[in-house]
Amino acid sequence: MNAMDFLKISPFLNDCPNCGYDNVGTNDKTGEYHGTLDVDDNLYNRKCRCGFAVTIDANEGTSKKIIKSKIDIALEDFRKQTTAKSEQTSD
Ligand SMILES: [Zn+2]
Repeated sequence: MNAMDFLKISPFLNDCPNCGYDNVGTNDKTGEYHGTLDVDDNLYNRKCRCGFAVTIDANEGTSKKIIKSKIDIALEDFRKQTTAKSEQTSD
């Protein structure tokens, strides 16, 4: 992990880009799942309890523009999926 990359990328992922939830981990007492932020070499994986997940590959660039566009694409996909799901259940 590159500390500079982490400093650039983590501010975009601390708060869930979908719902704004800022907690990660699992509550020891209640077992409640909050979400995860995993860093594996250059891959930054953020998952949230709302179901949103995004992976940022630091090798593909760490500029604000690149990170934001990746998050936007992931958000768009996620919202399409959620819409498709709710349309199915309403049948
Ligand atoms: Zn979320």
